[in-house]
Amino acid sequence: MTTIAFDPDACDRNPYCPVTRACPTGAMYIDKRTFSPAFDASKCTGCGTCLTSCPHGAVREL
Ligand code: SF4
Repeated sequence: MTTIAFDPDACDRNPYCPVTRACPTGAMYIDKRTFSPAFDASKCTGCGTCLTSCPHGAVREL
């Protein structure tokens, strides 16, 4: 299983983030308070789909 790390400093905080749309479990989601991408590790299954979805390298494999 892939372990994912999300780096908010590398993220451009796009409310239409392609990673949040690609993630099948909602582990990467748009925070309703900040309108920015956020990561909930408890929902991540380690499928790895997000690794090729972020154009800024904000999601990486540990
Ligand atoms: S590894 Fe899969 S489940 Fe986890 S954040 Fe990435 S796309 Fe979502």
